[in-house]
Amino acid sequence: MTHEITDITIIGGGPTGLFAAFYTGMRGATAQIVDALPQLGGQLTALYPEKYIFDVGGFAKVLAKDLVNALVEQAAQFHFKSHLNQNVTALERNDDHLVLVTETDRFPTRAIVIAAGIGAFSPRRLPQQCAEPWYGRGIFDRVSDPEEFRGQKIVIIGGGDTAFDWAQQLRDRAKAVTLVHRSDKYRAHGATIADVQAAVAAGRTTLLPFHELHDVISVDDKLTGVTLRDVKSKTTRDVEADAVLPMLGFHSDIGALSEWGLQCVDDEIVVNSLMETGRPGIYAAGDITAYPGKLKLIATGFGEAATAVNQAVHWMYPAKKIDPGHSSNMAIFGQKDD
Ligand SMILES: Cc1cc2nc3c(=O)[nH]c(=O)nc-3n(C[C@H](O)[C@H](O)[C@H](O)COP(=O)(O)OP(=O)(O)OC[C@H]3O[C@@H](n4cnc5c(N)ncnc54)[C@H](O)[C@@H]3O)c2cc1C
Repeated sequence: MTHEITDITIIGGGPTGLFAAFYTGMRGATAQIVDALPQLGGQLTALYPEKYIFDVGGFAKVLAKDLVNALVEQAAQFHFKSHLNQNVTALERNDDHLVLVTETDRFPTRAIVIAAGIGAFSPRRLPQQCAEPWYGRGIFDRVSDPEEFRGQKIVIIGGGDTAFDWAQQLRDRAKAVTLVHRSDKYRAHGATIADVQAAVAAGRTTLLPFHELHDVISVDDKLTGVTLRDVKSKTTRDVEADAVLPMLGFHSDIGALSEWGLQCVDDEIVVNSLMETGRPGIYAAGDITAYPGKLKLIATGFGEAATAVNQAVHWMYPAKKIDPGHSSNMAIFGQKDD
């Protein structure tokens, strides 16, 4: 399918891309977001929707998923389009515009803001073949709504931040939480490990170091538990489970973006202070960018998105100034001046 030409196509619907969509609309240009994931929000939605963020301007604290909802609401004032499950794999140049290409669709565009974060990412799968048939029907590698697991017996596999975060978040909702890891070396934040260990001491969580998945137990084609193997003693034990959550981290890959003639260093795109990539009409912002002093934070991504969009708008339409003026005075928001 070939879509209508848009002023700015934003690759990535994380916080940077969402703010870029808002800013594009505020500048009177059309925006669309193309994202490989099934939901908007980037890392916030995929990795830590239930965690509080404390360092975004204007919020003493905000849940990651609530920040995403607020960004979507802000951008939606200008009716941006979002195209999800669309992994951008190629870039073509036509006479007077660019075309972004995914496996199924083509997105003609006048300018591009690359807000692709750490690249297109997908969860690492369990290496045990016995797990494969159960993905999506008993084994889930993403948690979008923890309420889905209320009252259930949950086995979480992993030793990093995501595994420990979900062990912490689910224990008050689930009937039982068992956290399983291949060793006793955990990579999660120290405070979270201490919190989970305190819950273990209080009998509210079971922690099984030196264990791995050995088999899936089912009755009438429904997952009812897992057999775990002690990697030291080589013995096995069965644990009842309604759901198994492998939280083994993510593969991420900037893939095709590194083949577009942009200067890339360590999977990051080098930009100047105007967020220009060196290719006319192509800007970048957020975690994907590299420049002296770069900080990978939501707050910096917002500023970079504003710079990239203002530059892109002026590049496409030279009569439009780079400086947007103050939103508090803009007619587009019903204020008196433009
Ligand atoms: C556990 C955790 C906690 C964090 N806590 C904080 C915090 O408290 N404060 C803070 O400021 N930051 C925090 N961060 C960092 C913050 O999440 C990132 O800085 C932020 O998400 C970067 O936003 P982004 O929009 O640039 O990229 P991302 O959020 O990574 O979004 C990029 C999007 O681009 C998409 N994409 C990539 N390549 C393609 C492609 N080829 N085609 C289509 N789509 C593509 C991806 O699917 C993704 O949705 C945390 C990160 C983690 C992992």
